[in-house]
Amino acid sequence: MRYESPTTTREAVALMAGEKGKAYLLAGGTDLLVRMRGDFIDPDLVVDIKRLPGIQEIHQSTAGFSIGAGVPCAALGRNRPLARAWPGVVEAAQLIGSDQIQGRCTIAGNLCNASPAADSVPALVAARAKAVVFGPDGRRRLAVEKIVTGPGKTSLEKGEIVMAIVLPKRPAKSGDAYLRFIPRTEMDIAVCSAGVSLTLGPRNVVKQARVALGAVAPTVVLVPKAARAIVGTHLEDDALMKLAAACEAACSPIDDKRGTVEFRTEVAGVLARRAAAIAYDRARRKR
Ligand SMILES: Cc1cc2nc3c(=O)[nH]c(=O)nc-3n(C[C@H](O)[C@H](O)[C@H](O)COP(=O)(O)OP(=O)(O)OC[C@H]3O[C@@H](n4cnc5c(N)ncnc54)[C@H](O)[C@@H]3O)c2cc1C
Repeated sequence: MRYESPTTTREAVALMAGEKGKAYLLAGGTDLLVRMRGDFIDPDLVVDIKRLPGIQEIHQSTAGFSIGAGVPCAALGRNRPLARAWPGVVEAAQLIGSDQIQGRCTIAGNLCNASPAADSVPALVAARAKAVVFGPDGRRRLAVEKIVTGPGKTSLEKGEIVMAIVLPKRPAKSGDAYLRFIPRTEMDIAVCSAGVSLTLGPRNVVKQARVALGAVAPTVVLVPKAARAIVGTHLEDDALMKLAAACEAACSPIDDKRGTVEFRTEVAGVLARRAAAIAYDRARRKR
Protein backbone atom coordinates (compact mmCIF):
# COMPACT_ATOMS: atom_id res chain seq x y z
CA MET A 1 0.00 0.00 0.00
CA ARG A 2 1.21 3.46 -0.92
CA TYR A 3 0.62 6.39 1.47
CA GLU A 4 0.67 9.93 0.06
CA SER A 5 0.24 13.23 1.85
CA PRO A 6 -0.04 15.89 -0.87
CA THR A 7 0.10 19.62 -0.19
CA THR A 8 -1.98 20.80 -3.14
CA THR A 9 -5.54 19.95 -4.10
CA ARG A 10 -4.52 19.45 -7.72
CA GLU A 11 -1.96 16.83 -6.66
CA ALA A 12 -4.47 15.06 -4.40
CA VAL A 13 -7.06 14.92 -7.18
CA ALA A 14 -4.46 13.65 -9.69
CA LEU A 15 -3.32 10.92 -7.28
CA MET A 16 -6.87 9.71 -6.65
CA ALA A 17 -7.91 9.97 -10.31
CA GLY A 18 -4.75 8.27 -11.60
CA GLU A 19 -4.70 5.24 -9.28
CA LYS A 20 -5.58 2.01 -11.12
CA GLY A 21 -6.18 0.04 -7.89
CA LYS A 22 -8.30 0.84 -4.84
CA ALA A 23 -7.70 4.38 -3.61
CA TYR A 24 -9.08 5.93 -0.41
CA LEU A 25 -8.90 9.39 1.09
CA LEU A 26 -7.82 9.66 4.70
CA ALA A 27 -9.25 12.43 6.88
CA GLY A 28 -9.42 11.48 10.58
CA GLY A 29 -9.16 7.78 9.74
CA THR A 30 -11.65 6.77 12.46
CA ASP A 31 -13.68 4.79 9.93
CA LEU A 32 -10.99 4.08 7.32
CA LEU A 33 -8.35 2.68 9.68
CA VAL A 34 -10.92 0.52 11.48
CA ARG A 35 -12.01 -0.95 8.15
CA MET A 36 -8.38 -1.53 7.12
CA ARG A 37 -7.46 -3.16 10.43
CA GLY A 38 -10.58 -5.32 10.22
CA ASP A 39 -9.57 -6.48 6.71
CA PHE A 40 -12.80 -5.12 5.25
CA ILE A 41 -10.78 -3.12 2.74
CA ASP A 42 -7.28 -3.47 1.31
CA PRO A 43 -6.27 -0.14 -0.27
CA ASP A 44 -3.55 0.18 -2.90
CA LEU A 45 -3.32 3.91 -2.22
CA VAL A 46 -4.25 6.07 0.77
CA VAL A 47 -4.23 9.84 0.21
CA ASP A 48 -4.10 11.86 3.42
CA ILE A 49 -5.94 15.17 2.94
CA LYS A 50 -4.83 16.86 6.15
CA ARG A 51 -1.99 18.87 4.58
CA LEU A 52 -4.15 20.38 1.82
CA PRO A 53 -4.43 24.18 1.94
CA GLY A 54 -7.29 25.45 4.11
CA ILE A 55 -8.54 21.95 4.91
CA GLN A 56 -8.07 22.39 8.67
CA GLU A 57 -9.79 25.79 8.83
CA ILE A 58 -13.23 27.14 9.67
CA HIS A 59 -14.12 30.39 7.88
CA GLN A 60 -17.01 32.68 8.65
CA SER A 61 -18.19 35.07 5.93
CA THR A 62 -21.34 36.94 4.96
CA ALA A 63 -22.45 33.72 3.24
CA GLY A 64 -22.15 31.58 6.40
CA PHE A 65 -19.53 29.10 7.58
CA SER A 66 -17.12 26.98 5.57
CA ILE A 67 -15.76 24.02 7.54
CA GLY A 68 -12.64 22.45 5.99
CA ALA A 69 -12.88 18.70 5.44
CA GLY A 70 -9.94 18.09 7.78
CA VAL A 71 -11.36 19.98 10.77
CA PRO A 72 -11.79 17.55 13.68
CA CYS A 73 -15.21 17.57 15.32
CA ALA A 74 -13.71 18.68 18.65
CA ALA A 75 -12.78 22.00 16.98
CA LEU A 76 -16.36 22.73 15.94
CA GLY A 77 -17.54 23.22 19.51
CA ARG A 78 -14.57 25.46 20.28
CA ASN A 79 -15.61 27.86 17.50
CA ARG A 80 -18.03 30.08 19.43
CA PRO A 81 -19.72 31.83 16.44
CA LEU A 82 -20.31 28.45 14.77
CA ALA A 83 -21.67 26.83 17.94
CA ARG A 84 -23.95 29.83 18.48
CA ALA A 85 -25.26 29.85 14.91
CA TRP A 86 -25.60 26.06 14.43
CA PRO A 87 -25.89 24.39 17.86
CA GLY A 88 -27.69 21.37 16.36
CA VAL A 89 -24.96 20.66 13.81
CA VAL A 90 -22.27 21.06 16.47
CA GLU A 91 -24.06 18.84 19.00
CA ALA A 92 -24.54 16.16 16.33
CA ALA A 93 -20.84 16.27 15.40
CA GLN A 94 -19.83 16.15 19.04
CA LEU A 95 -21.88 13.02 19.70
CA ILE A 96 -19.47 11.07 17.48
CA GLY A 97 -17.34 8.64 19.48
CA SER A 98 -15.20 9.58 22.48
CA ASP A 99 -12.71 12.39 23.24
CA GLN A 100 -10.03 10.45 21.35
CA ILE A 101 -12.29 10.03 18.29
CA GLN A 102 -13.36 13.68 18.51
CA GLY A 103 -9.75 14.79 18.15
CA ARG A 104 -9.54 13.13 14.72
CA CYS A 105 -13.00 12.55 13.19
CA THR A 106 -14.47 14.99 10.67
CA ILE A 107 -17.99 15.76 9.46
CA ALA A 108 -16.84 15.31 5.84
CA GLY A 109 -15.57 11.81 6.74
CA ASN A 110 -18.81 11.09 8.58
CA LEU A 111 -20.72 12.08 5.42
CA CYS A 112 -18.48 10.26 2.91
CA ASN A 113 -18.35 7.07 4.96
CA ALA A 114 -22.05 6.92 4.01
CA SER A 115 -23.41 5.09 7.05
CA PRO A 116 -27.21 5.46 7.35
CA ALA A 117 -26.61 6.05 11.09
CA ALA A 118 -23.96 8.79 10.72
CA ASP A 119 -24.71 11.33 13.41
CA SER A 120 -23.78 14.61 11.75
CA VAL A 121 -25.63 13.98 8.51
CA PRO A 122 -29.31 14.50 9.54
CA ALA A 123 -28.29 17.77 11.23
CA LEU A 124 -26.37 18.86 8.10
CA VAL A 125 -29.29 17.99 5.84
CA ALA A 126 -31.71 19.88 8.10
CA ALA A 127 -29.28 22.82 8.00
CA ARG A 128 -29.28 22.88 4.18
CA ALA A 129 -25.51 22.29 4.19
CA LYS A 130 -23.59 22.04 0.93
CA ALA A 131 -20.46 20.03 0.11
CA VAL A 132 -17.71 21.77 -1.85
CA VAL A 133 -16.20 19.11 -4.11
CA PHE A 134 -12.99 19.28 -6.17
CA GLY A 135 -12.30 16.73 -8.89
CA PRO A 136 -10.67 16.15 -12.27
CA ASP A 137 -13.46 18.22 -13.91
CA GLY A 138 -13.11 21.16 -11.53
CA ARG A 139 -15.18 22.36 -8.59
CA ARG A 140 -18.82 21.76 -7.82
CA ARG A 141 -21.06 22.41 -4.87
CA LEU A 142 -23.92 20.13 -4.01
CA ALA A 143 -26.43 19.60 -1.22
CA VAL A 144 -25.11 17.09 1.33
CA GLU A 145 -28.18 14.88 0.80
CA LYS A 146 -27.00 14.37 -2.79
CA ILE A 147 -23.67 12.85 -1.66
CA VAL A 148 -24.85 9.62 -0.03
CA THR A 149 -26.68 7.25 -2.38
CA GLY A 150 -26.87 4.14 -0.17
CA PRO A 151 -25.07 2.37 2.69
CA GLY A 152 -21.33 2.83 1.99
CA LYS A 153 -22.03 4.45 -1.39
CA THR A 154 -21.63 8.06 -2.54
CA SER A 155 -22.25 10.00 -5.73
CA LEU A 156 -18.62 11.21 -5.76
CA GLU A 157 -16.82 10.47 -9.04
CA LYS A 158 -13.33 8.94 -9.20
CA GLY A 159 -10.82 11.53 -8.06
CA GLU A 160 -13.36 13.78 -6.33
CA ILE A 161 -12.65 15.13 -2.85
CA VAL A 162 -14.99 16.95 -0.50
CA MET A 163 -12.92 19.98 0.46
CA ALA A 164 -15.40 21.71 2.77
CA ILE A 165 -18.89 21.63 4.20
CA VAL A 166 -20.68 24.95 3.94
CA LEU A 167 -23.44 26.07 6.30
CA PRO A 168 -25.55 28.99 5.07
CA LYS A 169 -25.88 32.27 6.92
CA ARG A 170 -28.73 32.05 9.40
CA PRO A 171 -31.62 34.48 9.39
CA ALA A 172 -32.34 36.01 12.82
CA LYS A 173 -34.49 33.86 15.12
CA SER A 174 -33.28 30.53 13.81
CA GLY A 175 -32.46 27.38 15.74
CA ASP A 176 -31.55 23.78 15.15
CA ALA A 177 -31.26 20.59 17.19
CA TYR A 178 -30.24 16.95 16.81
CA LEU A 179 -31.24 13.96 18.91
CA ARG A 180 -30.43 10.28 18.58
CA PHE A 181 -31.55 7.15 20.41
CA ILE A 182 -28.85 4.75 21.58
CA PRO A 183 -29.25 2.04 24.22
CA ARG A 184 -26.20 3.38 26.09
CA THR A 185 -25.29 6.92 27.06
CA GLU A 186 -22.42 7.25 24.53
CA MET A 187 -20.08 5.40 22.14
CA ASP A 188 -22.87 3.70 20.24
CA ILE A 189 -24.44 3.89 16.79
CA ALA A 190 -27.79 5.67 16.43
CA VAL A 191 -30.77 3.29 16.38
CA CYS A 192 -32.64 6.26 14.94
CA SER A 193 -32.13 10.01 14.98
CA ALA A 194 -33.65 13.34 14.01
CA GLY A 195 -32.35 16.78 13.03
CA VAL A 196 -34.56 19.86 12.85
CA SER A 197 -33.70 23.37 11.73
CA LEU A 198 -36.23 26.20 11.76
CA THR A 199 -36.65 29.96 11.46
CA LEU A 200 -39.31 32.02 13.19
CA GLY A 201 -41.22 34.97 11.78
CA PRO A 202 -43.23 37.70 13.53
CA ARG A 203 -44.82 36.64 16.85
CA ASN A 204 -42.62 33.53 16.86
CA VAL A 205 -44.61 31.71 14.22
CA VAL A 206 -42.52 29.06 12.43
CA LYS A 207 -41.67 30.51 9.02
CA GLN A 208 -39.37 27.84 7.57
CA ALA A 209 -38.38 24.36 8.71
CA ARG A 210 -36.39 21.29 7.63
CA VAL A 211 -36.73 17.91 9.28
CA ALA A 212 -34.32 15.03 8.55
CA LEU A 213 -34.21 11.51 9.98
CA GLY A 214 -31.23 9.17 10.36
CA ALA A 215 -30.94 5.35 10.59
CA VAL A 216 -34.50 4.72 9.41
CA ALA A 217 -33.71 4.16 5.71
CA PRO A 218 -30.66 3.44 3.52
CA THR A 219 -29.89 7.18 3.46
CA VAL A 220 -30.93 10.16 5.57
CA VAL A 221 -34.57 11.03 4.91
CA LEU A 222 -35.64 14.64 4.44
CA VAL A 223 -39.32 14.91 5.41
CA PRO A 224 -40.92 18.00 3.80
CA LYS A 225 -44.38 16.97 5.05
CA ALA A 226 -43.12 17.08 8.64
CA ALA A 227 -41.72 20.56 8.03
CA ARG A 228 -45.04 21.71 6.52
CA ALA A 229 -46.86 20.44 9.62
CA ILE A 230 -45.12 23.01 11.81
CA VAL A 231 -44.79 25.97 9.41
CA GLY A 232 -47.36 28.65 10.38
CA THR A 233 -47.68 27.32 13.95
CA HIS A 234 -46.28 28.07 17.40
CA LEU A 235 -45.44 24.38 17.65
CA GLU A 236 -48.68 23.57 19.42
CA ASP A 237 -49.27 19.93 20.38
CA ASP A 238 -51.39 19.10 17.34
CA ALA A 239 -48.70 20.50 14.98
CA LEU A 240 -46.07 18.39 16.74
CA MET A 241 -48.27 15.29 16.49
CA LYS A 242 -48.67 15.90 12.73
CA LEU A 243 -44.90 16.32 12.41
CA ALA A 244 -44.36 13.01 14.24
CA ALA A 245 -46.95 11.23 12.07
CA ALA A 246 -45.27 12.52 8.89
CA CYS A 247 -41.88 11.31 10.19
CA GLU A 248 -43.27 7.87 11.02
CA ALA A 249 -44.76 7.60 7.53
CA ALA A 250 -41.38 8.46 5.98
CA CYS A 251 -39.49 5.68 7.82
CA SER A 252 -38.49 2.41 6.15
CA PRO A 253 -35.96 1.04 8.63
CA ILE A 254 -34.27 -2.33 8.93
CA ASP A 255 -35.25 -4.82 11.62
CA ASP A 256 -32.23 -5.91 13.65
CA LYS A 257 -31.13 -6.73 17.18
CA ARG A 258 -30.67 -3.04 17.90
CA GLY A 259 -34.24 -2.05 17.06
CA THR A 260 -37.35 -3.42 15.40
CA VAL A 261 -39.07 -1.62 12.53
CA GLU A 262 -41.92 -0.61 14.86
CA PHE A 263 -39.54 0.70 17.54
CA ARG A 264 -37.36 2.72 15.16
CA THR A 265 -40.43 4.18 13.44
CA GLU A 266 -42.13 5.29 16.63
CA VAL A 267 -38.97 6.64 18.25
CA ALA A 268 -38.05 8.60 15.10
CA GLY A 269 -41.34 10.50 15.45
CA VAL A 270 -40.73 11.14 19.15
CA LEU A 271 -37.16 12.38 18.54
CA ALA A 272 -38.30 14.67 15.71
CA ARG A 273 -40.95 16.20 18.00
CA ARG A 274 -38.42 16.75 20.78
CA ALA A 275 -35.76 18.11 18.42
CA ALA A 276 -38.32 20.53 16.94
CA ALA A 277 -39.19 21.77 20.44
CA ILE A 278 -35.50 22.34 21.28
CA ALA A 279 -34.86 24.09 17.95
CA TYR A 280 -37.92 26.31 18.51
CA ASP A 281 -36.77 27.25 21.99
CA ARG A 282 -33.26 28.08 20.69
CA ALA A 283 -34.73 30.22 17.89
CA ARG A 284 -37.07 32.06 20.28
CA ARG A 285 -34.17 33.09 22.52
CA LYS A 286 -32.26 34.64 19.60
CA ARG A 287 -32.62 38.27 18.65
C1 LIG B 1 -14.82 4.14 18.65
C2 LIG B 1 -15.63 4.78 17.54
C3 LIG B 1 -16.81 5.41 17.85
C4 LIG B 1 -17.58 6.01 16.83
N1 LIG B 1 -18.74 6.64 17.17
C5 LIG B 1 -19.50 7.19 16.19
C6 LIG B 1 -20.73 7.85 16.53
O1 LIG B 1 -21.13 7.94 17.68
N2 LIG B 1 -21.45 8.39 15.51
C7 LIG B 1 -21.03 8.33 14.21
O2 LIG B 1 -21.74 8.85 13.33
N3 LIG B 1 -19.87 7.73 13.87
C8 LIG B 1 -19.10 7.16 14.83
N4 LIG B 1 -17.91 6.56 14.50
C9 LIG B 1 -17.49 6.53 13.10
C10 LIG B 1 -16.49 7.64 12.70
O3 LIG B 1 -15.78 8.14 13.80
C11 LIG B 1 -17.23 8.81 12.00
O4 LIG B 1 -17.97 8.38 10.90
C12 LIG B 1 -16.25 9.95 11.61
O5 LIG B 1 -16.95 11.15 11.45
C13 LIG B 1 -15.47 9.65 10.34
O6 LIG B 1 -14.64 10.77 10.05
P1 LIG B 1 -13.10 10.60 9.68
O7 LIG B 1 -12.57 11.95 9.38
O8 LIG B 1 -12.38 9.81 10.73
O9 LIG B 1 -13.24 9.73 8.34
P2 LIG B 1 -12.17 8.72 7.63
O10 LIG B 1 -12.11 7.45 8.41
O11 LIG B 1 -10.88 9.43 7.38
O12 LIG B 1 -12.93 8.50 6.27
C14 LIG B 1 -14.20 7.85 6.23
C15 LIG B 1 -14.55 7.57 4.75
O13 LIG B 1 -14.82 8.78 4.05
C16 LIG B 1 -13.86 8.99 3.00
N5 LIG B 1 -13.49 10.40 3.10
C17 LIG B 1 -12.95 11.01 4.17
N6 LIG B 1 -12.80 12.32 3.93
C18 LIG B 1 -13.25 12.54 2.67
C19 LIG B 1 -13.35 13.70 1.85
N7 LIG B 1 -12.97 14.90 2.30
N8 LIG B 1 -13.86 13.57 0.59
C20 LIG B 1 -14.27 12.36 0.12
N9 LIG B 1 -14.19 11.21 0.87
C21 LIG B 1 -13.69 11.31 2.13
C22 LIG B 1 -12.70 8.04 3.30
O14 LIG B 1 -12.02 7.65 2.14
C23 LIG B 1 -13.42 6.89 3.97
O15 LIG B 1 -13.99 6.03 3.01
C24 LIG B 1 -17.12 5.95 15.49
C25 LIG B 1 -15.90 5.31 15.18
C26 LIG B 1 -15.17 4.74 16.19
C27 LIG B 1 -13.86 4.06 15.85
